[in-house]
Order: sequence, then C-alpha cells, then structure tokens
Amino acid sequence: MRTNVGPDPLDRGRFPADPWRLVETGYNPDDLGLTETLFAVANGYLGMRGNSEEGRPSYSHGTFVNGFHESWPIRHAESAVGFARTGQTIVNVPDAKMMKIYVDDEPLTFGTADLEEYERYLDFHDGILHRNLIWRTPSGKRVRIESTRMVSMTQRHLAVMTLEITMLRGSAPVTISSQLINRQDGRDEYQSNAQFQGDQVDPRKAAAFADRVLEPRVHAATAAGRLTLGYDCAHSGMTIAVATDHELQTVDSYETVTRAEEDQAKVVYRIDATEGTLMRLEKTVTYHTSRGVSVRELSERCDRTLDRAERQGVPRQVEEQRAWFESFWEAADVEVGEPIPEYDGRARAVEEQRALQQAIRFNLFSLAQATARADGLGIPAKGVTGSGYEGHYFWDTEIYVVPFLAYTQPAIARNVLHFRSVMLPKARERAREMAQKGALFPWRTISGEEASAYYAAGTAQVHIDADISYALMKYVHATGDLGFLVREGVDILVETSRMWADLGFWRHNGDPSFHIHGVTGPDEYTTVVNNNLFTNVMARHNLEQAVASLALIRERFPADHRRIVSRLGLTQDEVQEWARCAAGMHIPYDEALGIHPQDDFFLDREVWDLPNTPMSVRPLMLHYHPLVVYRFQVLKQADVVLALFLQGNRFSLEQKRKDFEYYDPITTGDSTLSAVVQSIVASEVGYHEPALRYFHDALYVDLGDLHGNTSDGMHIASTGGVWNALVFGFGGMRDHGPRLSFDPRLPETWSSLTFRALWRGSRLLVGLTQEHLTVTVVEEGDEDEVPISVRGREYVVSLAAPLVIPLEHHGPRAAGSTDEEAITGGLRPDGSTITSQVPEPIPFRDLGETAEVPVVYDPEQPKV
Ligand code: BGC
Repeated sequence: MRTNVGPDPLDRGRFPADPWRLVETGYNPDDLGLTETLFAVANGYLGMRGNSEEGRPSYSHGTFVNGFHESWPIRHAESAVGFARTGQTIVNVPDAKMMKIYVDDEPLTFGTADLEEYERYLDFHDGILHRNLIWRTPSGKRVRIESTRMVSMTQRHLAVMTLEITMLRGSAPVTISSQLINRQDGRDEYQSNAQFQGDQVDPRKAAAFADRVLEPRVHAATAAGRLTLGYDCAHSGMTIAVATDHELQTVDSYETVTRAEEDQAKVVYRIDATEGTLMRLEKTVTYHTSRGVSVRELSERCDRTLDRAERQGVPRQVEEQRAWFESFWEAADVEVGEPIPEYDGRARAVEEQRALQQAIRFNLFSLAQATARADGLGIPAKGVTGSGYEGHYFWDTEIYVVPFLAYTQPAIARNVLHFRSVMLPKARERAREMAQKGALFPWRTISGEEASAYYAAGTAQVHIDADISYALMKYVHATGDLGFLVREGVDILVETSRMWADLGFWRHNGDPSFHIHGVTGPDEYTTVVNNNLFTNVMARHNLEQAVASLALIRERFPADHRRIVSRLGLTQDEVQEWARCAAGMHIPYDEALGIHPQDDFFLDREVWDLPNTPMSVRPLMLHYHPLVVYRFQVLKQADVVLALFLQGNRFSLEQKRKDFEYYDPITTGDSTLSAVVQSIVASEVGYHEPALRYFHDALYVDLGDLHGNTSDGMHIASTGGVWNALVFGFGGMRDHGPRLSFDPRLPETWSSLTFRALWRGSRLLVGLTQEHLTVTVVEEGDEDEVPISVRGREYVVSLAAPLVIPLEHHGPRAAGSTDEEAITGGLRPDGSTITSQVPEPIPFRDLGETAEVPVVYDPEQPKV
C-alpha cells in the first residue's frame, strides 16, 4: 500500500535538476531542518550539517562524530531481568563551522540580510559544499561572499573550509570571527532551541540531555590562530578534542585577536578592506575522539593533523578529495537513460532524466558520506548527518547498506563487518544474559551493549544475528575474500548458529520440525510471535552457511580449521545439529490462502482497513498505542516480502506473486525501509507500475522529505535500498548461486540503465536497454573469465569478449497495482472469515479538560 506521491516532489524553481550537484537557488527559513540535512558534508566518521557559516538562523546546529556518545542509565518504571540498562546517545560535538562576517560592524544575518544573489550547491564530484552570495549591506555597499566546506575522505579527522570576501562597491572595515563553540545539545547560543528534540512522542528522535554532557578539560588559542578545545564526556568517559588553524590572505591591513574560554574559542580578523580586493580565509579543522585516551593526548593528535594539513596545503586536500570521489563513482555510479519520448514530450523527458539522475546520485553520494571513513565503527541509521535514532547502529547496515558496499566498495564492507566481529564478545555476554548459547547481537547500539529499552520491537528482533551472517556471506561471496571468513567471519557464523540452535526447539507432530518462538520480525507492527517467517528463513540460511563454510574451511584450509575448532570449542555434533535444524526449519504456509503467513498468529487477526484510514492518523505508530496496532494484520514494513527478496531462490515466482499480493495492501510503509523492498519484489513479480512508484518513494525520501523527519538526519537504509532497487530490482541481478545471474526488469518508460559491480575483483559494467543486456569486464580480477547466467542460460564474459544478449521481455507484466483493498473474506483453518476495520482514535477533545493535547505529527508539514 502506498500513498500517492507525484513523481518529482522537489520545487524545481528552487532546487533545479542537475545530475552532478544538489543546488539551491533561493534561501527559505521555513525548511532549515531539511536543508541542513541535505547539505551536510560527512565522511562516515565526521559529519557537519549544512548550517550557515554565520550560525543563525538554524534548526539544529549539528556536528557529529560517529560513535562519540554519552551514556545514561535507562530507568524502567517496571524493570525485569535482561532489560537494556545503558542508554547511549550520540553527542552533538563542538561546532567548528562558524565564521561570522561583519561589514561596517553590521552582521550578515540570514533572513534579514538583503541578498542580491544566493546559491548553494553540493558537488557530487568532490563532496564540497559551496555557497555564493552577494550581500547589499544596510549602508548600500555590495559584498561578494563565497565559501566552501569539505570533510575529507582521505584524512578522516580533517575538514577544510574557505571563505572569500570581496568588497564589490565601497571600502569598509570587515570583521571575520571564526569560532569553535560548544553548545549544549546543539542549542542556539542566543536562545534555547528545542524544536528538533523530544517534545513529541516520536521514537525516531533523540532525547535531549538535561545536564552538562561535555566537561571542559582543555582550551587554548595561539597568536597564530590555532584554537583547541577538549572535553571528557560526563558518563561514557569518552574524550574529544577539536582544533582549528587559520590562514588569512589579503593585501589589506588587518589585526588579529584570539581568545579561548571553556566553551568557546575564536580568532577575530579586523580588516580594513578596500574595494575590489579579495580576502581569503582558510580554516582547517580536526576532531579526535577516544574511549580511553586523555584529552591532552587527543589535542596533540589534533596538532599533528593540523601541522600535516598545513604542510600539504588546501589545494592538495581538494585534489585528493576529487581523486577519491572519482574512484568512488567509477565503482558505484548508476546511470539512467532518457525516458522513452513516446511516454512524454521530449523536453520533459530530458528534464525528468536529469532529475532522476540527480536523485540517484544524491542517494549514492549519501552512502559514501555515511560509510567511507567509518573505519572501525558501525554505520548509524542517519549516518553522521543528524541525531535521529540517537546515532545507533541497527540491521539497516547489514541488509540495506552492505550489499551496495560489497559490490562497489568491498574494503568498506569489510570494515563494517569487522566491526561486528569486534562486538562479538559483548554479543556473547548478551546471549548469556538472555539465557541463550552463542552470541546475540544488540538490536540497537553504539557501544556493543543493547540500548533498546522497548524489548518487544527491539531485543526481540533476534533476526539481527541472521542479518549479520547474511551480510558477511554476501561480502565473502561477492569478493571471494576467504581469508576474512577464515580469520574472523566464521566466528560470527558459529556463535550465531549456536544461538539459533538453542533458541529454537524441536516439535514432533509426524515429522519433527524446528520452531523459533517469541521473536519479532522486521515488521514492528507485530511483535513477539512464534515462527516469524522472515526470522525462520534467515536463520535457516545462517545455519546452512555456517555448516557449508566450516566444510569448505576444513577441506581447503585444514590447519585453520583445527585452529577454529580449538578457538571456538567446536564439536562435530553441534555442526551436524545445525544442519538438522536448517533442514527441519518450520516455514509457515497457509494452504487455504496459498500464502506464507508472517507468523503463526498472523492470520488469526483482523485486517486493518488501510484504504479507509485517514492520512491524519498516519504513520500509525504516532497515533495509536502499540497494542492497538498489534491486534491487526497491518505492517509497518516489508517482512515476508523481504524474505522473498533476500532468499529469493527458496520461493517460486508464483509464490512470490501471491505473497506480494496479500501483503502489499496491508503494508503502510511507515518505515522508510519498506518501499525499496516492495519495489524490488514488485519488479520481479511483474507489478511494474508500483515498482516504479515505490522506487520514487524511496528515491525522494529525503530530497522530498516524504516522511517529514529528514530534519533529524538522512535515512541511510533507504539510500542503500535505492541502489538495491536499481541493481537487484530493475537490473534483476541476483547472487544466490555460484555465479551472478540476471533477469532484468527495466521499467518500460526507461530507455537504459547502467551500473557497475565488482565480482571477485573483476569490474563489471552492466548496461540494460529494452532490447539488450550488455556485460563488459572493464578490469580483470582473480580470474580472466567471469561466468554469469541470464535467465537460466550460462555465459562467460571477459575483457576481450564483452557480452551482448538480446532480451525478448522484461519479465511478467501485470497491469495496474495490487488490489487497494486488503484481502478479506478468506477462511482461517478454523473456518472463520477474515474481516477488517479501522480502530477509531478518540478525538482529543473527548479526553476531558485536563488531558494534555499531544502534538500531532503531520507528515505533510515540516516540523520547523
Ligand atoms: C524500523 C527498523 C529500523 C529503524 C532504524 C525503524 O523505524 O522499523 O527496521 O531498523 O527504524 O532505521
């Protein structure tokens, strides 16, 4: 089920379509939260929101360092054994973006300043944010102000900013006040600004801290303009230092004043600017954080980074950044051709293609910004662009992001997976705490400890174990990196298999079958159930992969196998038991309806009548108590349908179609993790119009602020899903067997789709038109020939012999959408009929005089 969203939700007058840039041609104070997120620059470690250099006005000042968090005791009103104890919240770290400008002692302030020209753009070629203005000052002078901001992809601790000011008309005293400022929770230094935080019941937002989070330890300013601030995090014990260097180039005379206090350090340049001369300020910034090292030592690290940056100079940093992005795009770019003109006028077709291409690149670019230098850290649900979901790592990384990384940036995929193996000891402890063998990864975390206070939609999502194993094997399969599997990956497979074998149980009723009870699947609108189909299917894969990997290691690397056996205390019996559990795994199936029920209880419920549910009560989670929602057949996000994609080789096409038709009308898509999956499966089973619509929903989730909360940060799972939808959905690529396979589903309005994929070190360029599939090897990998299959026929492609395969069709094509109306009237096994209804929320006025009126979330209205 989806709501109607036009194909292009952006105001193209203000954000013109440009395939390589996100451009804003007009300033608008009404959507600051959104544009701060969209114009963020980040490298996966350090992220800076698109706040203006002047600092005001802002929705939320934001600078985030991946993993840098405060911890706090979770106080459960009614606690129980094993409940999460330690809350973890990403900290908004000291802000280094500020460079305030005064001309004739008048500050440049957005909103009130008279701007003759305004343009801001984020360049996907190099990740540099540009802002160009012409300001007419109150005294009638004209000033050109051009600035850039970049977070380095090659030096993860480094950010570089430049500011160029030219007096176009008139000479004037110009002041530039460049600052480091520590604000509590990103609040404005002039007024408390809590718009962006917890005044609403919205689980997606981060809570505000009441007490001081960063305890000052170091503050310094040198006459040469180096500023340093350093802090201890009050409870987590993490430490941070931030430092900045400045270099001013001008022929005009000026004086410099520097100052440092506990929460603010600044360099102020007072320049006697003459008409027509250029003043250029370069500001290099560095952040270092740690879990144990003293602030003093971190400030020495800052010095080292800044000294090196100074030796290298800004042009070299920009050059390295360009080179980094060049190789990123070489590996990851996805191009779409013009829409086929007969579907539209030619001019519109060109414009549409530019818009589509821009949105695709923006999503891929955001993936680079979320992951590139996370190095030994996880990928937060919002990357480092906002504090939403408190900076936590979820399954989003493994299921939505790792596939993209494995096929385009394998070194980053490996880092992400390595991070999970570093977490393994904590996952083992967590399993003990949950009375389980093996390892249980936390549903959401930064430190490795479970941070999900609401266990029903959190800890109970044990599928996270299978998701991590799935991503691991996807990486190993795509890259052939058996070394990683042998050294550390296999530990994850073994410990998660132990958990599954222990969690489930054998049930004898005729043939014994293996059941997993008391878990929650991906769909958070149904919790704590027996035999969630997704969980069982993914656990089966997890167990099978453990068994197969151990057999392979024993055969190919016997010495390593012996080491693994002793390292993990592995017995042959337990491995055999895993094989039995996988083979006997119960896969729920309903004969009468011919579908896979989401779980054992699912069909017992009434159906939620979505077509008759007003938009004013969507998303459901913000308008109904969870128990109300749990009573119904209604989905927050794809669940069975996700299993149909991830384990597509275990279901027939006909089965996929039937399941899709059942679940689609009762899926709200209230989670942004849904649309991409629905798009992929819709493509496969032939619902090509919904496939394209769901794809658009995902493509514009952030650009169009379709879920109304992009101000809290980018939806990184969805950006990864956009790549998945392009490559697996429309491109029809799969990797279930020993070779890559293709069964394309190009939308009928698209003339072409081109993507890149690395397979065992070979760089493949895959081109798709309505008539042909072309596969080219652009760089050889481990083998000079790459075996592939297309619709069941096997081929070999090599550098010398590209493949061009004629395509007669793009799969089955069903007209229109799945039925809007949910499937009701079917019979349950007990003979009762499945009915539907919409629970009516009681209007607030009926709650009595004293009741507080909750702030009602309206996805149509940006919350600023
Ligand atoms: C989704 C989860 C997801 C989380 C973080 C929730 O709304 O239901 O599947 O992991 O957001 O993105």
